[in-house]
Amino acid sequence: MTKKQLQAIKEKLEVEKARIEAELAVMAHRNPQTSESDFEADYKDVGDDDDDNASEVAQYTSDLSVSSELEKTLRDIEKALASMKKGDYGLCKYCGDSIDPKRLEIRPTSSSCIACKKTFTKEA
Ligand SMILES: [Zn+2]
Repeated sequence: MTKKQLQAIKEKLEVEKARIEAELAVMAHRNPQTSESDFEADYKDVGDDDDDNASEVAQYTSDLSVSSELEKTLRDIEKALASMKKGDYGLCKYCGDSIDPKRLEIRPTSSSCIACKKTFTKEA
């Protein structure tokens, strides 16, 4: 991979990271007890009768699942950015070979090459 390709991917990841952090900031707050990228969904107090309580719980549950998806993506992005800093970005975590830059352009958080991905998981 060329420096230019790497730089383009890095910028893409940083934009995506900022977007996810902004989204998470709306529905959740950082958990001060744990790592930086751990978020807890905010429990929204709508009201006290049973209907209100039910919709609070439903909203909270859906926020939780959305925010945990976002968190997972955020962690993948942070991992990718960290490996760029270390200089081992784009190397397969299983075999150590370079991951096809085309694959990284489409999915910059990939940490394994296509061959290993197929071997170790069922997805293509
Ligand atoms: Zn591999």
